[in-house]
Amino acid sequence: MDRRQFLLLGATAAGVSACHAFPGLEIPVRVDMPGMALGHQLRDAHAWPAATEHRDVDTLILGSGVAGLTAAWQLQKHDYRNYLLLSGPEPLGNTAYGDAGRGLRYPKGAHYLPFPTRSSTHVRELLADMGVLVSGEHESHPYYDEAAILHAPDERIWADGKWSPGVIAPVAAHSESARQQARFFRWVEQLKTQKGSDGLRLFDIPLVLSSQDDDWRRLDMMPFSRWLDQQGYTDSALRAYLDYACRDDYGAGCTHVSAWAGLHYFACRDGHASNGADGGLLTWPEGLGRLTQWMYNRLPAANVMAGSAIRIQEGQHNVTVDVLAGKTRMTIAARRVICAMPLHVLKHLVSLSDYGFDVPQQMPPHAPWLVTNLVLQGFPPEKDGEPLAWDNVRAGSDGLGYVVATHQWIREAMPERTVFTAYRNLPQFSPDAARKWLLAAKPADLFDAAMVDLDEVYGRPRLWRHAQYAEITVRGHAMATPAVGFLHNAGLAALRKQDGRLLFAHSDLSGLSLFEEASWWGYQAAQKILG
Ligand SMILES: Cc1cc2nc3c(=O)[nH]c(=O)nc-3n(C[C@H](O)[C@H](O)[C@H](O)COP(=O)(O)OP(=O)(O)OC[C@H]3O[C@@H](n4cnc5c(N)ncnc54)[C@H](O)[C@@H]3O)c2cc1C
Repeated sequence: MDRRQFLLLGATAAGVSACHAFPGLEIPVRVDMPGMALGHQLRDAHAWPAATEHRDVDTLILGSGVAGLTAAWQLQKHDYRNYLLLSGPEPLGNTAYGDAGRGLRYPKGAHYLPFPTRSSTHVRELLADMGVLVSGEHESHPYYDEAAILHAPDERIWADGKWSPGVIAPVAAHSESARQQARFFRWVEQLKTQKGSDGLRLFDIPLVLSSQDDDWRRLDMMPFSRWLDQQGYTDSALRAYLDYACRDDYGAGCTHVSAWAGLHYFACRDGHASNGADGGLLTWPEGLGRLTQWMYNRLPAANVMAGSAIRIQEGQHNVTVDVLAGKTRMTIAARRVICAMPLHVLKHLVSLSDYGFDVPQQMPPHAPWLVTNLVLQGFPPEKDGEPLAWDNVRAGSDGLGYVVATHQWIREAMPERTVFTAYRNLPQFSPDAARKWLLAAKPADLFDAAMVDLDEVYGRPRLWRHAQYAEITVRGHAMATPAVGFLHNAGLAALRKQDGRLLFAHSDLSGLSLFEEASWWGYQAAQKILG
């Protein structure tokens, strides 16, 4: 870049809120905090305008993330038309994506889906409807669209100033480290097919289809770190990798996550493809926004409405939902309502204790995340000419590395532009302290936090020669963390079982946040409506 000043444009979901200048460099940076303004208004008992409109509908879906859209896709598919989907403050939720123009899209949240397990029939059905699963929907090894299968080089790790393949820092062959790693991976490989006393897989996805065998569920009552200690998995490279894996999927490290959840991460994913290696992934430039956008596009315009629910009241004959659509407040009366919004928002709209969920005792901890997209003209040079991988991580980092949006573009020449998506959470803080920090942080501090890996690997001056602009998405309550005891959360179990006027569907119901879990609850809610 030839411009001499670095400008940081801080923006909230409501618009640009701040502008900071840093001498020597220039790149616009936008900060989005989706859902924050509404969330805080709901929390602070904001004075809303009086309702001026009314509408009736049979089924109202509150939320347009994976769960809400899966419910709507199912209703639509089965010719059920009397429904309305209210999109909420962020269409597509955690699978939202950005568009840098000229076909260049990038994820603002979820980015990959492992080959679905046999139990993930709901995900297989979606992928088959989309044409991503080309054939063999009910077989162990379906055939997937080649363009969606993650191709090599898939991942690399930066340790001691150089890149190596994989996401575990290299260790000497035949060392104690190598032995422990081999032992751990042999063990989880075997767990993938092991069944409990009830004949179900010990660790399945969706999680509710996992074995109820108490001998294994007991693992939920201790932290993953303690279980690893007990089993003699003490090697620092292995432990750093396991911590990274937990932070990457659960938003918290091994000392917070339950041992059951820690093992679930490795053992639940047993999907295969006839045209891809075991352990393979499906991904797109815009991440899982490809899947939710596809579902969104199937819905007739008349069945979708922009707006957010601000109050839900269950009556004898229907449910009344107060909705804010722009500046207008309206009421919608529905026979049944699918609540597909996060529990930390829903708790302000309805008394969840009436449905068996005790908010102070049973709310799962929600980890905040920063997702930073850096739009680049050309590619920065790579150390020793090492080829860029799809996922690029740094050993021992607080960050979670970065993925490359154009990785799946198969072209003879490198594209002219690309986007690096850097992920990070704030494991040094409790979720509440992290949210306080995020709220108080100056845009420049947010940006420094977001850049930990890219700064170290490339250095800003090298990167800045290519950087056009950056967009930081701050997700204050990004995902439920499966902390110790999460599997035994009776409040979540009560919400999952509801089959009355109010139905619940969100990844929060699983106590952990994955596409397959969110879509499972949306699918289940739709089946209850369809009867
Ligand atoms: C940074 C990040 C990366 C991730 N990466 C992956 C990944 O690679 N693979 C994977 O499988 N999973 C990943 N996940 C998890 C996955 O994204 C989620 O599990 C999934 O998107 C959650 O979908 P959901 O429908 O449960 O909820 P959400 O995404 O939380 O959607 C909630 C919806 O509710 C709406 N809403 C909120 N308030 C209201 C209101 N008052 N009225 C009406 N609507 C409202 C919102 O607008 C939104 O549309 C990631 C998550 C994050 C945060």
